[in-house]
Amino acid sequence: MRVLVTGGAGFIGGHLAEAFAGDGHDVVVLDNFDPYYDTRIKEHNVETGREAAAESDGSYDLVEGDVRDADLVDDLVADADSVYHQAAQAGVRTDYSPRKYDEVNVDGTLNVLDAARDHGVERLVFASSSSVYGKPRYLPYDEDHLTTPISPYGTSKLAGERYAMVYAERYGVPAVALRYFTVYGPRMRPNMAISNFVSRCLNGEPPVIYGDGTQTRDMTYVEDILAANRALLDTDAADGEVMNVGSTDNIDIETLATEIRDQLAPELELEYTDAYEVDADHSHADVSKASELIGYEPTYTIREGVEAFVEWYRANREWYEPLVRNS
Ligand code: NAD
Repeated sequence: MRVLVTGGAGFIGGHLAEAFAGDGHDVVVLDNFDPYYDTRIKEHNVETGREAAAESDGSYDLVEGDVRDADLVDDLVADADSVYHQAAQAGVRTDYSPRKYDEVNVDGTLNVLDAARDHGVERLVFASSSSVYGKPRYLPYDEDHLTTPISPYGTSKLAGERYAMVYAERYGVPAVALRYFTVYGPRMRPNMAISNFVSRCLNGEPPVIYGDGTQTRDMTYVEDILAANRALLDTDAADGEVMNVGSTDNIDIETLATEIRDQLAPELELEYTDAYEVDADHSHADVSKASELIGYEPTYTIREGVEAFVEWYRANREWYEPLVRNS
């Protein structure tokens, strides 16, 4: 199968491209190497995808380009059987203007959807986010929970997701939106809590918590995200649906920092700094819908996922750590 992964040089897209190429598919990655974090991580992601293709019957092609370029997107989608649309200005905390989120995350998504409508694809998977929920009315969130995002990022993800669902309903595009809950794992974005906590502890520096650490998160190991995406290659059971994909193993940030500290540098005290306004207080996924429709079951507890990440971090410390510490 020919699979287009937009944003495929990024963290999650890189894992998808690697997995699909390793499974023997012909993978095309579209990515503009946006420099909002160190692009050397993206070069490693691309390398990993190429290696996976070399070891299988699959192939891997990189197209350096922009999802805002409608003609380019049209050409690439025309040749694809399935599309995994991961390209985005990611992250609630980046201080880009709302227009950047809008141009990349909404207009870029419309380019992908238009092309999918015009050429037909077997599946179009849109990477959405738990940030579409905003402040919780109840936890864990199911997909019927009110969506009132509190950041430009969350707002743009909600718009992209709604467009995907409208294209599914009006034009029959086989679109699925997955609401990811804080994803972590090898080659993760350097500016996230787990990579920072691990890096600081291994360097004898206290982990720094934004706010009082009572915020809770479903931290989802990237292998579980992969499993949900892989399942969608082979089933139309979730077409036209939005689904939560989280870990369900909820943890508060102070406990997370404490556990990493206890494991790596027990002598350190935790440090606290100002909270970010756009950070959600709590996020917690009810994944029953994904479980019912595509058999999704998270397999990594936070403890297991963090252990796996730390093992990978130690093995890749030489190249990865400087990029985390400069982020
Ligand atoms: P990432 O930043 O590592 O990956 C996004 C990729 O998109 C990057 O490689 C970037 O260069 C590329 N990109 C950005 N703008 C582009 C453009 N205009 N044209 C082409 N490529 C462009 O982020 P990630 O963590 O891998 O996130 C992947 C997707 O999952 C995103 O859509 C994000 O919104 C979503 N998501 C991620 C998380 C998480 O915790 N990592 C949580 C919820 C949702």
